[in-house]
Amino acid sequence: MATRPGILFVLSGPSGAGKGTVCKALMERGLGLNLSISVTTRPPRPGEKEGVNYFFRSKEAFEEMIRSSKLLEWAKVFDNYYGTPRDFVEEKLAAGEDVLLEIDIQGAMQVKQRFPDGVFIFLIPPSATELQARILGRGTETEASYRARFGAARQELAMMREYDYVVVNDVVERACDRIAAIVAAEHCSVSRN
Ligand code: 5GP
Repeated sequence: MATRPGILFVLSGPSGAGKGTVCKALMERGLGLNLSISVTTRPPRPGEKEGVNYFFRSKEAFEEMIRSSKLLEWAKVFDNYYGTPRDFVEEKLAAGEDVLLEIDIQGAMQVKQRFPDGVFIFLIPPSATELQARILGRGTETEASYRARFGAARQELAMMREYDYVVVNDVVERACDRIAAIVAAEHCSVSRN
C-alpha cells in the first residue's frame, strides 16, 4: 500500500500575533510535526542560531535560491526576504510525515495555491492593544520598523477569511491546546482517510 502523504500545517497571521512563540511551544509537545526552517536575508537577532532559527543568507544567495526553484514560497517582509526550502517539505510529506510552516500571510497564500489540502491556521492576538504591546515589547524594533509592523498587522487581520481555522493567542499554552486539537481533528478527517 502506498504511503499516505503527511499533512502540511501552516501557522500564519499578522506580525505580533505571537507565531514564533506559539510555534516553539507547539514543537515541544511532540505532536510529530516537522518544523520547516526558513531562509532569510535578515541579520540574526541576539541568541538566534544558524540552522535552528533560520538559515541566514545574503540577498544574492537568496535570489539564486529563487532562480533555481529551491523555495516553495518566498516573500519580502519589512525589507528582508524570507522563504521556505522546498526539498525538506516535499520529502517529509512524501514520507508520510506532517510538516509545520510558520510563515507570513503572503507566503501562506502562495502555499495555498500549491497545497490546497494544507491546513491553514490564522493566529491572532486577543486585542489591538495587546498587539501593540507585543510588537513594542520585543525590544528589537526601531520606531519606523514598529510603525510598519503595527500598520501591516491591522491590514492583515482582514485576511482571516482565507484560512481554515482561527486561533486566538491569549495564553500561549491555550493557543497550543487549540492547535493540537486541530492537528488531531485533521488526522481523523474522513476526507483524508
Ligand atoms: P521575524 O523577522 O520576526 O523572524 O519574522 C518576520 C515575519 O516573517 C514573520 O511574520 C514570520 O512568520 C515571517 N516568516 C518567517 N519565515 C518565513 C518564510 O519562510 N516565508 C514567509 N513568507 N514568511 C516567513
